[in-house]
Amino acid sequence: MKTDIQIAQEAKMDLIKDVAAKLDITEDELELYGKYKAKLSDELMDKIKDRPDGKLILVTAINPTPAGEGKTTTSVGLGQAFGKLGKKAVIALREPSLGPCFGIKGGAAGGGYAQVVPMEDLNLHFTGDFHAITSANNLLAALLDNHIQQGNILGIDPRQIVWKRCMDMNDRVLRNIVVGLGSKMDGMVREDHFVITVASEIMAILCLADDMNDLKARLGRIIVAYTFDGKPVTADDLQATGAMAALLKDALKPNLIQTLEHTPALVHGGPFANIAHGCNSVRATKTALKLADYVITEAGFGADLGAEKFFDIKCRKANLHPDAVVLVATIRALKYNGGVPKDQLSEENLDALKAGIVNLEKHIENLHKFGVPVVVTLNSFITDTKAETDFVEQFCKDRGCEFALSEVWEKGGEGGIELANKILDTLEHKKSDFKVLYSDDLSLKEKIETIAKEIYGADGVTYSAAAEKELKRITDLGMSDLPVCMAKTQYSLSDDAKKLGRPTGFTINVREVYASAGAGFVVAINGSIMTMPGLPKKPAANNIDINDDGVITGLF
Ligand code: ADP
Ligand code: MG
Repeated sequence: MKTDIQIAQEAKMDLIKDVAAKLDITEDELELYGKYKAKLSDELMDKIKDRPDGKLILVTAINPTPAGEGKTTTSVGLGQAFGKLGKKAVIALREPSLGPCFGIKGGAAGGGYAQVVPMEDLNLHFTGDFHAITSANNLLAALLDNHIQQGNILGIDPRQIVWKRCMDMNDRVLRNIVVGLGSKMDGMVREDHFVITVASEIMAILCLADDMNDLKARLGRIIVAYTFDGKPVTADDLQATGAMAALLKDALKPNLIQTLEHTPALVHGGPFANIAHGCNSVRATKTALKLADYVITEAGFGADLGAEKFFDIKCRKANLHPDAVVLVATIRALKYNGGVPKDQLSEENLDALKAGIVNLEKHIENLHKFGVPVVVTLNSFITDTKAETDFVEQFCKDRGCEFALSEVWEKGGEGGIELANKILDTLEHKKSDFKVLYSDDLSLKEKIETIAKEIYGADGVTYSAAAEKELKRITDLGMSDLPVCMAKTQYSLSDDAKKLGRPTGFTINVREVYASAGAGFVVAINGSIMTMPGLPKKPAANNIDINDDGVITGLF
């Protein structure tokens, strides 16, 4: 079996201008980054803005396991399958973060015969968007420290600085650092922190901004610190907004690349799915809806986090109306949820499947609460047996869901035709009555409790003293109308990664709360959340190389 990178490197790509032509985009309307990557120009976005929207299809999954689910693979394969059926479809995905490519996760361009290319570019520097975001983030940090150094007219309390520096690398030693050591001229000594670029609020802002005006308004509202008397200090207060926006001029434009079968893919923005909302940019999604009849987009992690935030944050704020949801499951992950250890997942085990399928059941019930029709798809692995597949199919049919097997990893678009047809059928016959889970006017606590009870299946929510205090401050500052961005483990419906399947009899424990005032949501952290990952004992970076012909190996 070939590796993902081998398959990607063997692909003969079309020129990106030819891929664009399939969407009636002229070369003039592109900003080319070489032959195989382009950004969509503002002129194009302006030209198409009054066109009717295509159908919006969200790809989400059961809770992730080490066995793998394949949301990106399914999304890409589905784009390819629509292409095979002669339909005008665009996939809209996130840009991968650089740091994790060198750890254990590998890249994020899909897998097998369902990938987007050029895979190495996408996983490494791509079109420089993350560099721009990193720069804007660190400019704000530099201006903040400089303000304190130059007399601190705003009265910023150095102990209440909440803005962090960022970098797109897994580098644990930067989580907690001391800056300003040296002489008086070297700045005020204080504790500081780095987060990975995808965890920066700027990333979330870029992904939620409608246009340059909205981007600026959001950047300006970022809270960087509090004063000695507890008042928020914003990026606007530091007169940082204009320069940050200038740095983000090109990063705001969606990137166009192609799948292995030359269908178009907009890959833009990549916010973390824990402390941010975890899906690609609003601008890319909206543009895709104007360019194609079908738009396939992915939300990170499982449906309890990714889909909930896609609906309650992205769709609510951007006025998007999703038409269908594809819920990805694998037999292996369901058996894992049923208690089978990782090394025994290849053996048929109907009892474990029956025990673990309750995880899928809860996600189906949850998605129905948003009023969007659900199609369950099994991302097929070569180890799956017919008895296992039949069992899952019947289980879905009994719960009013469409079901389709997907073999896109093995067969590319051809392996996704059954799924694409099920989606087309669903779009035609089942109307989406999309609604958000909670209304803006509930209190922040009521919002958190609604998500915890309705989506996670919790009995209730407890709060740390610090969280209680911050909820009060955010409410007093007039921000209680914002949606809540829940940050918890992706491995369980609860906030305990070890509770697999469909846990009951638990509470959700909110440890920390803060406002991402620019992004426009309040983050509630349950359990410990990593915003600067580390590298493992054997980093993937040790096996990455480039040969004399410029061919990269070891990236997966
Ligand atoms: P997600 O988007 O849910 O994180 P990906 O689509 O990125 O998952 O897939 C994760 C990994 O699993 C990739 O390396 C991919 O090649 C692999 N994978 C996905 N589907 C299959 C499959 N059906 N058989 C074997 N490997 C798969
Ligand atoms: Mg993915």
